[in-house]
Amino acid sequence: MKRIAIIGGGISGLSAAFYLQKARAAGADLEYTVFESGQRLGGSMYSDRVEGCLVEAGPDSFLTEKPWALALCKELGIADQLIGSNDAERKTYILVNGRLVVVPDGLMFMVPTQLVATALSPLFSWSTKLRMARELLHPPRPMQTDETVAQLVERHFGAEVVDRLADPLLSGVYGGDAAKLSARAVLPRFVEMEEKYGSLSRAMLAAHKKMMATRKHPPPPLFTSLQDGMQQMVDAIAVRLDPESIRLRTHILRVYPEESSSSWRVAVEMNGEERFDAVLIATPANVAGTLLDGVDRGLARNLLDITYSSSITVTLGYYLQQLAGLPPGFGFLVPRSEGTRMLACTFVHNKFPHRAPQDKGILRCFLGGARDEAVLGLSDDEILETVHRELRDILKLDARPIFSRVYRWRGAMAQYEPGHIARVQRIEKHVEEIPGLALAGNAYHGIGVPDCIRSGMEAANALAQAPVASLSPQSR
Ligand SMILES: Cc1cc2nc3c(=O)[nH]c(=O)nc-3n(C[C@H](O)[C@H](O)[C@H](O)COP(=O)(O)OP(=O)(O)OC[C@H]3O[C@@H](n4cnc5c(N)ncnc54)[C@H](O)[C@@H]3O)c2cc1C
Repeated sequence: MKRIAIIGGGISGLSAAFYLQKARAAGADLEYTVFESGQRLGGSMYSDRVEGCLVEAGPDSFLTEKPWALALCKELGIADQLIGSNDAERKTYILVNGRLVVVPDGLMFMVPTQLVATALSPLFSWSTKLRMARELLHPPRPMQTDETVAQLVERHFGAEVVDRLADPLLSGVYGGDAAKLSARAVLPRFVEMEEKYGSLSRAMLAAHKKMMATRKHPPPPLFTSLQDGMQQMVDAIAVRLDPESIRLRTHILRVYPEESSSSWRVAVEMNGEERFDAVLIATPANVAGTLLDGVDRGLARNLLDITYSSSITVTLGYYLQQLAGLPPGFGFLVPRSEGTRMLACTFVHNKFPHRAPQDKGILRCFLGGARDEAVLGLSDDEILETVHRELRDILKLDARPIFSRVYRWRGAMAQYEPGHIARVQRIEKHVEEIPGLALAGNAYHGIGVPDCIRSGMEAANALAQAPVASLSPQSR
C-alpha cells in the first residue's frame, strides 16, 4: 500500500486528494492524508451566507476556456449547479479623473478590435488612439527577452493603456503589478500573437474571425460559478474523501526522505513525525521551499524566489433601493494613477443575479495587491472607512450597508515575474530527480482555479502511477 501525504487543503490539494481517491476506487493500492493547517478546507476558496446573500471571500468564478474546473464539477456530479455570469449586463468601467468611463466595445482584454468604438471612447486620449491605429502596422517580431507586461503593452499601445487597462486588469486577476509580471508567463498568447502577426489588434481580429466561423452555439458565459458559491466545489470534494484522511489544524514543519529506506518523514507541529511513501506539497511555493530546505537547497531556493502578493476583499450588502444610483454593469477597475486604495469593485448582483435576494444588492471591493501590502496592517474598521469614503467619491454612494465583511488573503497570489518560466523548469527538474515528491498550486502554471485543479490532478496522477523508489544519495 502506497501512503501519500498531501500538504495543503486548498483547491490544489483537494483536487489531488479527489484524483487519488478516484485512483483508489479504480483499484490503485494507495491511501492519502490531507494535512491542512487551517480550521477548514478550501484555502482561499470560501463562500459565506449573510442576510440571504451569497458572499464570496476569495474566487467568485472560473473561466471555462481552461477545462479542468468544469471537468471536475462534472466528475463531482455538481454540473447541474453551474451558473453563468449575466453577460447581457456585461459592462465594465474604468475610473478616469474621478469619473467612471465605460470600456468600449471590442476591447478584448486590453486589445482594441473595433477602431470606431475605440475612437469614440473618452477612455483614451487622441494620441493613444492614433497609436492604436498605427499598431495595426506593427511587423511580426520574436520576443528577445522576458519582458514585463507593461513593456509589451507600452510598445504596442503606449503608457496610457498600461495605466488604464493593463495594470488594473492584472491587479484584478493577479493582485499584481504590470511592471513586474512576465508577459511570457502571464500573457503567453500575446507573445505568440506578436511573433506571428506583429500587431496584437490584427491577431485578435483574426482569432475572433476564426472563432465566429467555427462557432455553432451562442458563446458560453464569460464567467462560471456555482449556485451556492465556489465553496460548493470544496464541499463536494470533501464528502467524497475518506473523513479519516483529512487532518485540519495540522501544521507541517518540514518533510524529508529517510536515509535508509524509500520513505518520507513528515514533521507535524507539536506532534512528532509520520512516515509516508510520497509527499505532495500543495502549499504556496514559499512554504514548499521552507518545507524542503533540508532536502534540496537548489530546489528550495527556486521555490522561495517566487514572490506573492496579498489582497483584501470587502463585501458590502445593501437594500437595492440604496443602490439606485449605481450604473448598469459588472463593476469598475481603478488605475493606480487615480490614487485610491480600492483596486476594483464588482456589482455582484448584476454579475450573478442569484447571489442576492431581489430586494438586495452586493458590492465587492478589492484592495491590496503588489503595490499596497501596507493595507493589510489596517484594522477592519479602518478598511471599511476607506472603502465607504472611496465609494462615496466614486459612486456618490452615501448609504451605509446592511452588512459588511472583510477577508484578508495574506501571501495568496503568486507573482509570475520575468524569469518565471525558466524558474519553474528548474524546479521541475529538481523535483523529477527526487522520487516520491510532487508539487501543486498556483505558483507554477497558472493562478486561476482551473489551473490549480489541473496541477493537483497531475501531481496526484504522477504519484499514483510512480513506483515507490528509493532516493538515490545524489538526489538529496
Ligand atoms: C481574493 C482572491 C480572489 C480570487 N479570485 C479568483 C477568481 O475569481 N477566479 C479564479 O480562477 N481564481 C481566483 N483566485 C485565485 C485562486 O483562488 C487561487 O489561486 C487558488 O484558490 C489557490 O489554491 P491553492 O490550493 O493552490 O492555494 P491555497 O488556497 O492558498 O491553499 C493552500 C493551503 O495550504 C495550507 N497550508 C499552508 N502551509 C501549510 C503547512 N505548513 N501545513 C499545512 N497546511 C498548510 C493553507 O492553510 C491553505 O489552506 C483568487 C484568489 C484570491 C486570494
